[in-house]
Amino acid sequence: MGTARHRILSAIRAHGPLTRAQLARAASLAPSTVTEVVQALAAERTLVETEIVRSEQRRTGPKSRALAFEPSLSATVGVDFGFRTVRALVADASGTPLADGRAELPADYGADEGLRIARQLVDEVIDRAGVPRPPNAGVAVPGPIDTQHQEVVASSILPGWAGYDSAAFESALGLPVILENDANLAALGEHTYGAGRGVANTLTIKFHSGIGAGVILHDRLVSGIRGGAGEIGHVEVDPQGPLCRCGKRGCLDTFASVPAILATLRPHREVDSVGELLALLEAGDAGAERCIRDAALAVGRVASTAALLLAPERIIIVGAMARAGDVVTDAIREVLERQAIPQAHTVPEVVLGSLDDRHSAMGAVAIGLGAQGWLPEESTPRRPESTPRAG
Ligand SMILES: [Zn+2]
Repeated sequence: MGTARHRILSAIRAHGPLTRAQLARAASLAPSTVTEVVQALAAERTLVETEIVRSEQRRTGPKSRALAFEPSLSATVGVDFGFRTVRALVADASGTPLADGRAELPADYGADEGLRIARQLVDEVIDRAGVPRPPNAGVAVPGPIDTQHQEVVASSILPGWAGYDSAAFESALGLPVILENDANLAALGEHTYGAGRGVANTLTIKFHSGIGAGVILHDRLVSGIRGGAGEIGHVEVDPQGPLCRCGKRGCLDTFASVPAILATLRPHREVDSVGELLALLEAGDAGAERCIRDAALAVGRVASTAALLLAPERIIIVGAMARAGDVVTDAIREVLERQAIPQAHTVPEVVLGSLDDRHSAMGAVAIGLGAQGWLPEESTPRRPESTPRAG
């Protein structure tokens, strides 16, 4: 019975919730043994029955009850790497945060240094959450990610991380890792837990140190080939414009990102941070308001092209510049209304995200839990491992 118990728990840990028939196959056990062991595990509240239905079951017949870990026993870690900070958040199976922490990163930190600091933070938040080490972590990285091969794409956007794959992250962080781009995870976080909940088609724009977008279509995150979907910060706005960190000229990032807004203001204002910029706006500084509004109009022009391509129901604004509120949303809404086809086209709503600066970490929680089988399949990206067929 000891071995059977171990095999059943391992199968659920590897594949997420399973029916008794699936458990018998996955653990290579007789159905009668599965019934007996599951009864004992349910009696001690290690396993619970869930409503989760897999799509293959839906095709073949009525749903059957799946067995999953008791939610308070299962958890995941969402890690969000920024340019200067890293966040780690432990959440239970329902996505409720149990502990959350942040650490500063040195300017232009290398991958190994970033991972070393992240490991300390991850260990600390797991400790504070008071849970056993979770079975996996979702990790948000601020650059292009090849999600299919689970590795950071070589680019001048994130130099020094090229070739780092999920195995390298796993050995550094001490638990299995699923990698995704930070703007994509911001979209998944808002879709699963925030301002996009219940909306099947959204575009989430991270208006920050860099500008990126995450696309949710028909309740699924669209990553594209080599994770390239939604890189709106590198849409060319002016072919003769300033050189961008990506190697092109005149990208949206060079006109509208936080560093670009600060640089535009700096000849006439002493402003070095988003906090100082927002304080000027709050104090009624006309120059600060004009620069923020112009940046938001530039973002809106690119967003309106994306809206004509994808027809999202809602556009969700997250990132540091979301803190400017109406100045940003009004400008983006204005361009969307002007660019929409008169009468024929529904103008998407423009709203602020509702997860503060935890959007990408909560998206990382969503992919972590999705891989464990805790979320409905429709709202999660493709599972990294195959699941046994319904039996
Ligand atoms: Zn660029």
